[in-house]
Amino acid sequence: MRMAISGRTEVFAVIGDPIEHTLSPAMHNAAFEYLGLDFVFTAFRVTSDELENAVRGACALGIRGLNVTMPHKSSVTEFLDWADPSVKFLGAANTIVNERGRLRGFNTDGIGVLKALKNNGITLTGKKVLVLGAGGAAKAIAFSLMKEVDELCILNRDATKAREIASAMKPFGKIIEGNNLTPQQIQVELQDSDVLINATSVGMAPCTSESLVHPAWLKPDLRVMDIVYNPIETKLIRDAKTAGAKVINGLEMLLYQGAASFEIWTQCKAPIDVMRSALLSRLSCAGATV
Ligand code: NAD
Repeated sequence: MRMAISGRTEVFAVIGDPIEHTLSPAMHNAAFEYLGLDFVFTAFRVTSDELENAVRGACALGIRGLNVTMPHKSSVTEFLDWADPSVKFLGAANTIVNERGRLRGFNTDGIGVLKALKNNGITLTGKKVLVLGAGGAAKAIAFSLMKEVDELCILNRDATKAREIASAMKPFGKIIEGNNLTPQQIQVELQDSDVLINATSVGMAPCTSESLVHPAWLKPDLRVMDIVYNPIETKLIRDAKTAGAKVINGLEMLLYQGAASFEIWTQCKAPIDVMRSALLSRLSCAGATV
C-alpha cells in the first residue's frame, strides 16, 4: 500500500494538453509504491499560454520532477537552466528535474525505443532500420538509433522533414537517407531493412484498421516496432505477427521512456515489471485491447 501523503511527500507530475488519458501516473505511482518511496505522481492539464506560469509554479512549489508531453515538449526548453545533449539536438524535452530551483531537461523518448528494442532481444549493430514518420518521436528515435545502427532510412509524407533529420544526423558518419513516404518507397526500402519502426500516428484509435505497410511486404526475418500504443496491438503489429516477424508494441516504448525518466528523478533502478503491469492493468480498465 502507498504511504500516507504527508508534508514530506515529494511530488512529481506530467504536464500536457490534453492530459486526461495519460498512463504516466499509474506507471510511476506503482513504481514509487513498490520501492517504498515517499513520492507521488500526478497530472496537470496545462494550456500553451499557461506553460511558463505552470513551470515557474512547479518550481516554486518544489515539485521534484516533471514529464512533459504534447504540445509542450519544444516550448518547455526555453525555461530550462540546463539541457542534456539530446534536448539540445532535438530542441525538445520530456523530462525535467528540479534541483533546488534549477531545472535540468532530458529527452528519454529515443532511449525508450532503444531499450525496448534491446530488451526484446533485437541487436542493432550492423543493421538497417526503416523509420516511418519524421515528427517529434521519429526524430528522437533517429537520434538514439544513429549511435547503434549502420544505416537508417526515414520516410515521411513531407519528405523535406525527413531530409532535414537525415542531414542533421550526417555528423554520426552513418548511411542515412530521408525520402517521400509512398507505398512504393516503403516496399523498396523494406527489401533490405532489418528493422521497421512505425513512428507515425497511423493505426492509432479510432483508425485501428489502418496501416502504412501492405501485409505482403512483411517477412519473418523483419523486426517490427509500432510506437502507437492505443491500441496495443495495431494493424501493423497484427500483420507482422501473421507474417512471422518479431514484434514490439508501443507500450514497450512508453514503459522504457518512463523507466528512464524514473531513474533520472530517483537514481533508483526502475522496477520494469511492476511498471509494465500497471500500464497493462490501466489499459485493460480503459477497455483497450491488450
Ligand atoms: P507528431 O505529430 O510530431 O508526428 C506525427 C507523424 O505522423 C508525422 O511524421 C506525420 O507526417 C505522420 N503522419 C500522421 N498521419 C499520417 C498519415 N495518414 N500518413 C502518413 N504519415 C502520417 O507526433 P509524434 O509525437 O511524433 O507521435 C507520433 C505517434 O507516436 C503518435 O501516435 C503518438 O501517440 C506516438 N507516441 C508514442 C510514444 C510511446 O511512448 N509509445 C511516445 C511518443 C509518441
